[in-house]
Amino acid sequence: MDEYGNSGEGRATRRDEAVRAAVEQGLLGPDSPIVGLLDVTGIRESAAELRAAFAEVTAPGTPVLHAFAVKATPLVPVLRLLREEGIGAEVASPGELALARAAGLSPAQTVLDSPAKTPAELREALALGIAVNADNPQELDRIDGLVRSAVSRSPLGIRVNPQVGGGSIGATSTATATSKFGVALRDEGAREWVMRAYLDRPWLSRLHAHTGSQGIPLPLMAQGVAETYALAEEINRRIGRPQIDTIDIGGGLPVNFASDVTAPTYAEYARALREAAPGLFDGRYGLVTEFGRSLLAKHGTIVARVEYAKSAGGRAVAVTHAGVQVATRTVYVPGSWPLRITAYDGKGRPKSGPEVVQDVAGPACFAGDLLAEGRALPLLDQGDYAAALDTGAYYFAHHYAYNSLARPGIYGFVPAHAGGVRFATVRDPQTLSSIVAESGGAHAGALTTLHAPGSR
Ligand SMILES: *Cc1c(COP(=O)(O)O)cnc(C)c1O
Repeated sequence: MDEYGNSGEGRATRRDEAVRAAVEQGLLGPDSPIVGLLDVTGIRESAAELRAAFAEVTAPGTPVLHAFAVKATPLVPVLRLLREEGIGAEVASPGELALARAAGLSPAQTVLDSPAKTPAELREALALGIAVNADNPQELDRIDGLVRSAVSRSPLGIRVNPQVGGGSIGATSTATATSKFGVALRDEGAREWVMRAYLDRPWLSRLHAHTGSQGIPLPLMAQGVAETYALAEEINRRIGRPQIDTIDIGGGLPVNFASDVTAPTYAEYARALREAAPGLFDGRYGLVTEFGRSLLAKHGTIVARVEYAKSAGGRAVAVTHAGVQVATRTVYVPGSWPLRITAYDGKGRPKSGPEVVQDVAGPACFAGDLLAEGRALPLLDQGDYAAALDTGAYYFAHHYAYNSLARPGIYGFVPAHAGGVRFATVRDPQTLSSIVAESGGAHAGALTTLHAPGSR
């Protein structure tokens, strides 16, 4: 096992102990049949590995901001934990910015990147001094106006799309020819437009690209960064001074969903980048990174009780409390987003026994609500628990309110003395009154009091 837990052995042991302790301590049971668990030790290890990986390839003294992509796990306690680990925040909406501020992140640790920023959002970001990457020419026009009307400390840049191509998952591929993000560099006239934009605006000091995502191979990611670096070099050469002083390389490191092993690692990616663009690390450029999934995915587990175990057409089916509401991508696009499932008995102990091909179903009222279809696992019985692994990013913090299913509670855990486990509440389970309130409960009569002329 390496010092960052990348082999995954420590992670699997901690997870098993946490599931048992969650049952013993009553966080999980007949009346709270689903929880999200976050492995605090693992999150700290990944943050440390990220810092170390880039420290190893950069010249001493290079400013590096690792900004966690808040959309991956939009939970205030997670952002605060990462802040303690020296990680900032990449935000893409007023809500995400509010979460980052609630977690205590400073403007200098925050980067704003959304593709649809309103004038008010831009004005606030510039007033606060938050870094902003303009997505397109129209947005740059708005920023021009703000820069003319008030002084701002915000580092400002442009997002480009090197159009190096997509990966195996279309919906998360950001660097295709027709991606909606950034200025499409290979389009006719685009490179020249970017060049002029910097020549005309001495205050534009950053260049941004985010070309990776789940399903994108490392060499393609490195190529996207290398092309962005080459553009920065070309712009600075044309201007005759190092106007671009910081390159934001985005996030997008893919995650291994097939086992507990971390692969690829941050260290591998940092080395691939140094190979593809050595000059990026020689100290002339500050760096910003925006990793999301790779920092959190492997440290989250959804655990759900098996309410009923049945059989249909010869297939065993475990009906659990985890389905589309917590694993939306997996349920709707199972081919692209398969999740590992582990089986625990009613006391939260790993289940053994012969494997049986079965479906692990969710609680929602449509037939396709399956966490796993035809999966070989020890047979799940009523009162057992099924765990969906590697769900710390883009899963249980991304509740989908189908069937008005309640958002589950989320708890962070660390090992305690003598094999015990300590939990802390990250998010309370959603109450029924909150579901009613969020569903227009305060406006129950709103529609019956509206009458079109002559309708009564
Ligand atoms: C989503 C996103 C990220 C994070 O992507 P991951 O695949 O979670 O690492 C970073 N930057 C931008 C601009 C994004 O949209």
